Amino acid sequence: MSSAIVPTPAFVSGLPKAELHLHLEGTLEPELKLALARRNGVDIGQTTVEQVKATYEFDSLASFLGVYYPAVNVLVEEEDFYDLATAYFVRAAADGVRRVEAFFDPQAHTSRGVPIEKVIVGYHRAAVDAGALGVSAELILCFLRDFSAESALATLTEALPYADRFIGVGLDSDERDNPPTKFADVFALARANGLKLTMHCDIDQVGSIENIRQVLEDIQVDRIDHGTNIVENPELVALVRERRLGLTCCPVSNSFVTADMKAAEMVALLKFGVLVTVNSDDPAYFGAYVADNYSALAEKAGLDTDELVLLAKNSFEASWLPTNEKQAFLHAIDEYVAGYSAE
Ligand SMILES: [Zn+2]
Repeated sequence: MSSAIVPTPAFVSGLPKAELHLHLEGTLEPELKLALARRNGVDIGQTTVEQVKATYEFDSLASFLGVYYPAVNVLVEEEDFYDLATAYFVRAAADGVRRVEAFFDPQAHTSRGVPIEKVIVGYHRAAVDAGALGVSAELILCFLRDFSAESALATLTEALPYADRFIGVGLDSDERDNPPTKFADVFALARANGLKLTMHCDIDQVGSIENIRQVLEDIQVDRIDHGTNIVENPELVALVRERRLGLTCCPVSNSFVTADMKAAEMVALLKFGVLVTVNSDDPAYFGAYVADNYSALAEKAGLDTDELVLLAKNSFEASWLPTNEKQAFLHAIDEYVAGYSAE
């Protein structure tokens, strides 16, 4: 029985877990942002960590994106992408993360003249080297949904020669007026090329339920990012449970871009048997890496150790790992909990 274990921060950070909703561009800490700005001679308007941190004030998805996308100007060379991703993998390893399926936004870079090759090769090299840290890492190429469908298609076409360096495609940025079906053709092409599919269904959007219906029925995704509004529609909840589709929830992120962590919704879905997972989204901006997200949700919703262990197991179940590797990670969780109980 693991319920006798107190879910302390030490227990949570040692618990093997997978991170499935993590934007590499969202891991840009102020120190690295300043260092890269200096290295590349980019004027970001701030010269101290305090000044950079003072810009991290958001009360909505739109105000967050207004700070987030201009910051990527400091990423120019392949080495910059490598350094950014490596800094994240080091932190993730210390947080008990054993598997990462990380998002990146090529259009945030190609739209300002950075060749896609530098982005993909730099990030991928870091993902390979993460193996030495005990982290199995893969990449998911995301399209910016406020760009056109044609731009997404051009991006995928440019990226396909590097398709051995990413395992799936996703969709992020501003959901308003940019429904999933806008990208039906590009997602169909990705599927035809053997890539997995996921899409953001952000919190409390206009038309949230219709967009969730589209990702499930029209696009036929393999996972949903956020998606907690699904709780409003029992038929769709039954569908994701039946298909064993993961929801990649981000409690601390939710509390920044909406008024609420959405803890009650996540716990209701978890108790109903949906593959709810906990993730950090953009940890440099929200000040919380993945273990902090587990702890924040546990504190808010009063979760016990068994429920935290279930969330960690769900993260591997919802991953795109081969079955035998999933089983090995699930076994590692059981061993960790058994060892912890014995102490
Ligand atoms: Zn996200």
